[in-house]
Amino acid sequence: HLHASPDDVVRGTDDVAALSRLSAVQVGYMTDAYAPVFVSSSAAHAARRPPLINRGTFARIHAFDRALELFIARVTKDGVPGQVLSLGAGTDTRWMRFKDQLAAASVRYFEVDFPETVMHKISCLRRHRKVYAELLPGATFDGKHTTMATPNGQYTLLGGDLRAWLAVVERLSACGFDATRPTLVMAECVLVYVDPPAVMTLLSWIQAQLPSAAIVSYDHIVPDDAFGQMMLRNLSEQGIELPGIHAVPTVDAHRAQLSEFARVETMDMNEYWAKHVPDEEKARIAKLEIFDEIEEWILMGRHYCLSVAAQGSLAPLLDQF
Ligand code: SAM
Repeated sequence: HLHASPDDVVRGTDDVAALSRLSAVQVGYMTDAYAPVFVSSSAAHAARRPPLINRGTFARIHAFDRALELFIARVTKDGVPGQVLSLGAGTDTRWMRFKDQLAAASVRYFEVDFPETVMHKISCLRRHRKVYAELLPGATFDGKHTTMATPNGQYTLLGGDLRAWLAVVERLSACGFDATRPTLVMAECVLVYVDPPAVMTLLSWIQAQLPSAAIVSYDHIVPDDAFGQMMLRNLSEQGIELPGIHAVPTVDAHRAQLSEFARVETMDMNEYWAKHVPDEEKARIAKLEIFDEIEEWILMGRHYCLSVAAQGSLAPLLDQF
């Protein structure tokens, strides 16, 4: 990170996310045929991360997959076409894993990340010709290759800066984003990197402009205690500059950020794990690798927050959180 700008450092967090995903897949926490596409083969050999991180990655991905499944079930039941908006999607593979279910439910999928990240994602896909041919036949690009869309409009990748939200919205609309559709907004390890006024602009826009919306957001919380300090040290060891982090300090503060929505649920990841990861899954996972960091697991779980808020026709989704 010798000459990296603060934005380069923030973009670099996606490489860590991609490695963690691949590690958890390699150990067997979940299956994801697309996880290797976004990690260079040299990095892939050293992808293996500690059990604590693998389990945390599993829990986070489980939460967002579950939210997406509930959303798909809801719009299917209501018989309306929906859309997903993934903010700071990085090289996330969720659209690829769910594309058939999404198509069957007439759900369009939009991803926004920095143009550099979008170009990186497209070039990784290009390098894997079979995957490209499977996922993106006939995809079209804009002149600068920072926007990509599949011909049926099912998947759109948009390069933009979340801190310039209204400009992003304009371009999203030009790509077929439709504010009248029920919309699931996802922000997985993203908002912590965006400054608080820009986060407020974004959340207020969602609340005011999307009559039927649900937002799922996940971030670490950095309280002023020994564990919080340790997390900050770990982040700085990964090259993540502390001034780039805008952590909301508590679960309650996350709830307050979303208080304009009709319904809000916030929980730490211990609560999520206890309530929403089925016992069979817990039993399966317990056999994957030796796991004796039980205390650290509990401590870590308290420092990650999942927030879900919804309004309009999607408000009933909150019954399931
Ligand atoms: N959501 C993905 C996942 O969970 O695998 C990626 C998470 S990664 C930790 C954070 C992502 O947010 C990066 O891809 C970064 O580029 C993106 N990001 C952060 N700030 C952004 C901004 N202002 N505009 C667009 N993307 C941003």
